[in-house]
Amino acid sequence: MDASNETAILIRDNWQRVLEEVAEACSQAGRDPETVSIVGVSKYVGPALTAQLVAAGCATLGENRPQVLWEKTAWFEEQGVLPPTWHMIGHLQRNKVRRTLPLIACIHSVDSLRLAKAINTEAAANARTLDILLEINPTDDEGKTGVLPGQAKELAQAIAGLENVNLTGLMAMSTHHAEETQARREFAAIRELRDQLAAECSIGLPVLSMGMSGDFREAIAEGATLVRIGSNLWQGIR
Ligand SMILES: *Cc1c(COP(=O)(O)O)cnc(C)c1O
Repeated sequence: MDASNETAILIRDNWQRVLEEVAEACSQAGRDPETVSIVGVSKYVGPALTAQLVAAGCATLGENRPQVLWEKTAWFEEQGVLPPTWHMIGHLQRNKVRRTLPLIACIHSVDSLRLAKAINTEAAANARTLDILLEINPTDDEGKTGVLPGQAKELAQAIAGLENVNLTGLMAMSTHHAEETQARREFAAIRELRDQLAAECSIGLPVLSMGMSGDFREAIAEGATLVRIGSNLWQGIR
């Protein structure tokens, strides 16, 4: 068996293990596994390994850097590989919206009206709508990315008035290296914020993008519908 074959098997095994772990977390939370989707985060590897994850069955991939997303989608096209659905999960500068928007189905990291408007303008120019999530900073720490919970309502209302973006929910990351109980508290607060915004702004916000390799169980227990899993998919891969 050659090395690339071995790698493909490792990636397939990792994907299967992640699927099982997510299903297990769902059953422990008393939730239907169908209600939680996995965004496979491919930022740790190049395009060839990314394609192997798609071949293993992962249909939705997340990248956090626009440039890398551009490179990978170009590579997929050159190779004639059937592309996955791409989600942008990291910061998107407004001057990169034009080139990125045609490549993605969803952006998780909207944290300003200026960015939402730039996406809206570009989506209109492409005669489409784009699903977007508001990134919430659950820590009240001004240094971190995301909107502070207290500013979310005003922003959600303004975005709801834009025609070519579809605000479908919230995204959040727990505090780095948080204890399990703290991560769970933070995710619970995001779910409560979602419920409150949905009621106050009269918009459906079905999507909660929260949980990564280290804390997806806590996120699923608190209602995550999208988990963004990176490291656990690339164990043993260089
Ligand atoms: C890297 C990244 C992830 C995946 O994190 P892992 O801990 O490697 O699973 C999820 N979300 C965002 C925004 C990321 O940048």
